Amino acid sequence: MQSILHFINGEERPAESGSWIDVHEPATGLVYAQLADGDARDVDSATEAAHQAFPVWRALGVEGRSRILLKLADLIERDLEMFVAAESRDNGKPLSLARKVDIPRAVANIRFFATAILHFASEAHIMDDVALNYTDRQPIGVAGCISPWNLPLYLFTWKVAPALAAGNCVVAKPSEITPLTASMLGRLCNEAGMPPGVFNVVQGIGSKVGAAITSHPRIPAISFTGGTRTGAEIARVAAPMFKKLSLELGGKNPVLVFADCDFERMLSTTIHSSFRNQGQICLCGSRILIERNIYSRFRHAFVERTKALRVGDPKDHASDLGAVVSKDHMEKVLSYVALAKEEGGEVLCGGKQVRLDGALAGGWYLEPTVIEGLGPACRTNQEEIFGPVVTLQPFDNEEHALALANDTPYGLASVVWTQDISRSQRVVRNLRSGIVWVNCWMVRDLRTPFGGMKQSGVGREGGTEALRFFTEAKNVCIRY
Ligand code: NDP
Repeated sequence: MQSILHFINGEERPAESGSWIDVHEPATGLVYAQLADGDARDVDSATEAAHQAFPVWRALGVEGRSRILLKLADLIERDLEMFVAAESRDNGKPLSLARKVDIPRAVANIRFFATAILHFASEAHIMDDVALNYTDRQPIGVAGCISPWNLPLYLFTWKVAPALAAGNCVVAKPSEITPLTASMLGRLCNEAGMPPGVFNVVQGIGSKVGAAITSHPRIPAISFTGGTRTGAEIARVAAPMFKKLSLELGGKNPVLVFADCDFERMLSTTIHSSFRNQGQICLCGSRILIERNIYSRFRHAFVERTKALRVGDPKDHASDLGAVVSKDHMEKVLSYVALAKEEGGEVLCGGKQVRLDGALAGGWYLEPTVIEGLGPACRTNQEEIFGPVVTLQPFDNEEHALALANDTPYGLASVVWTQDISRSQRVVRNLRSGIVWVNCWMVRDLRTPFGGMKQSGVGREGGTEALRFFTEAKNVCIRY
């Protein structure tokens, strides 16, 4: 059985506790690895190593750090198939998706920040005949990075890469449910020539390792992606310690479909925005709002396309959906389907566990599910399900669409489908979400600010926003 260890001070190590956690393969439901069960002692060691390494990493300067990060990206690309297989096995996602999206985007994250740091500039504010102010941006020191299970390496590198590029050392924790690719990254950091202690991974569960990172007095910045409830707990602990905090949290994203949209393009993209990665992407659109005069046409076409999706072995290229990440998560999603029925919703298709044969008989597979007949206020339309489940609601006009779209505590992403430029602008301006896609979904330019409003988060990642987060600004005023 494979052991997945910490990566501390350039070495793979077991946990101080000597205990292990089972890691399951969602496709089969079987345990395939043992994970180091870390705690505060391991976080202490990693933090000490990171502090020791900080002066060395900082002294390399932006060019030295950039070179090492670019090498790291090349090494992941060299080992792409190994990473693809590991991500698919650990998470249950189709191999084809890991190959097309997860691992290439992780490589792109690292390359992007390795080169962005070369172009990162500070402001100068010149007071005529009085003084010159300039902003000096220094790395913070040691950054804590905590990431979720849905896009394991992709979201992990989205934090770790800017933190390292900006000159910080990192103590990172992947989700205990999907720890494998983060641990593989450690070995490649050594091969890329990264000094020991710059990048550390402490494995284990959130309530021990995550909590120890959050409350550690020598980790002054926390970048977290995960659920809103966990984000609130992290803020509760970190805010009174005056830590820098970036929180990327949950969503309940609306997709607004106007009658004048390019119907075919909208339909195929909406299938992806509903069910890609088994609906386990924070950016998936889970509430589809449709202009009433095309509601029947949409419902018919969407349900037909959904029924045609194949749920199957993640290794099979023909599978559109693989397994969901865990048994608990599968049961949570199924409990929301039951809730939707109790609330008066009608399941148009899906709603059940899929039982596969042979080695996959114990795997956690769900049918893609479409529900209609529910009002905006019910729990099904308010709470994040984070699985292959969408609801349909009709709307009468722009105002009604906006009222429905904005009527949740979340504000992460929205999608608008219309050919009318003026309408798209009116709607976009009034949507309360940090990201809006018009006539597309998941098109990502890494320079753009990424994050949510309301209970979907605090702060933004991406581009200069991330580099600013991972540096401390100091104004220097020089009198003429
Ligand atoms: P969780 O909030 O459960 O976990 C996220 C990470 O935090 C995990 O590594 C977890 O560890 C850790 N953690 C748990 N408890 C604590 C704690 N008390 N202190 C510090 N860390 C802790 O989220 P999930 O992993 O279930 O991920 C799904 C969620 O992530 C969804 O809500 C989704 O919307 C959100 N998400 C948001 C994105 C965004 O960009 N806004 C992108 C992707 C996902 P462990 O796994 O060991 O419990």
